[in-house]
Amino acid sequence: MAFDPLTMLTITIALALAASLYLAIEWQTVREPALLFWSAGFALISVGCILALLRSSGLLLVGIWFANGLLITSHWLFFAGVARFTEVRLSRAWLLAVAIWFAMLLLPNGPEWSKIMLLVNSLLIALITIRASFLLRPRGKSLGAGAAQLRFVLLGHGLFYIAKTIPVLVPGTLIDLASFQGQIIKISLVEGVMALMLISLSMTGTVRYRREKRIERLAARDPLTAMYNRRALEARAPKLLDGVSPKHPGALLLIDIDNFKQVNDLHGHAAGDKLLVALGEMIRQALPEGSLAARLGGDEFVILLRDASPERITNLGDLLRQQFQSAAAQTFATPEAVTLSVGASLFDQPPASLAALIEQGDVALYESKRGGRDSIRLVDRTSNAEPLTG
Ligand code: GH3
Ligand code: MG
Repeated sequence: MAFDPLTMLTITIALALAASLYLAIEWQTVREPALLFWSAGFALISVGCILALLRSSGLLLVGIWFANGLLITSHWLFFAGVARFTEVRLSRAWLLAVAIWFAMLLLPNGPEWSKIMLLVNSLLIALITIRASFLLRPRGKSLGAGAAQLRFVLLGHGLFYIAKTIPVLVPGTLIDLASFQGQIIKISLVEGVMALMLISLSMTGTVRYRREKRIERLAARDPLTAMYNRRALEARAPKLLDGVSPKHPGALLLIDIDNFKQVNDLHGHAAGDKLLVALGEMIRQALPEGSLAARLGGDEFVILLRDASPERITNLGDLLRQQFQSAAAQTFATPEAVTLSVGASLFDQPPASLAALIEQGDVALYESKRGGRDSIRLVDRTSNAEPLTG
């Protein structure tokens, strides 16, 4: 199949312009700086391709040397964008690519001119692109599906540019940059169009994936204490609750601060906030592995335990009560003690729902409040239940 270079270049110009615009619009909503680098990269590709069309009018310096320089710069911008995205500082040594390209002006105008131009051009692009792909490798935490795509697309693109140098090195291969002659140039134009689409799509995927993860993380957390909120607990509780059996009982502890309003009223809302944060931290520290904790709202917190027993529940409740009472007494003086009331429920069958379980905890919590506060009330709903209060 014959590919007319002028048609291919025209398609490339249109696609590069569309990609540049698309990434710039994406930047307007996402505000990820990498998108601007990438958008600028595609804009340069379209300018470079427009200039490349001038080769047929004999403008070789602009149509070949300058146009290819823009192609290298655009890959350099992709690389800089990836560095921004992965928060890696680029070494100044990468600017050497520009110096190497300027040195190409000194190249004598002989029969091998096209080949050397193509060789240097390809090697520089391959080096920059493969390095960019390398930056996207997962280091510790994954960068997401989009970044994995971008990584492999860049790697494939870089390897293609290395492969492009092989025919250049074979004596007798026809390469004429001035009139787009030679099979390798035509194949390059096709690869360019494909790479353009894949790279721009995976770039948006990369940024979108990170944004979605960030939104997901924010939506699951209570902004004050950074603990899970009710919604996040509802999403995570079924896994824990479904594992409950007579051999592995579960427990819910509903915790509410006593006389919390007095802290707010006498010391201000910010003081109240500090105490909520401190309680959140205490819960986090005391939380056994495999359990879940969340702030339900206001001064109410919840803990879900697996492999629970009456002793484990009272030990955990008492530890939190003691720690909290001493922290509150030391920081904010109030007419009545600021303490914790805990309503707990122990069960050996998966409950009907988390809401039903919280309701049971609420009944026990109410009992604890009614009994004078600063206490834990446990309702044992297991088959070998014996009432226990503290
Ligand atoms: P009780 O001993 O019966 O639990 O009474 P309480 O004073 O602790 O008050 P209650 O639990 O009925 O109400 C909780 C209060 O917590 C109501 C509200 O003013 C306050 N509050 C809710 N959310 C926040 C918050 O994010 N920050 C602060 N500082 N206060 C909050
Ligand atoms: Mg309260």
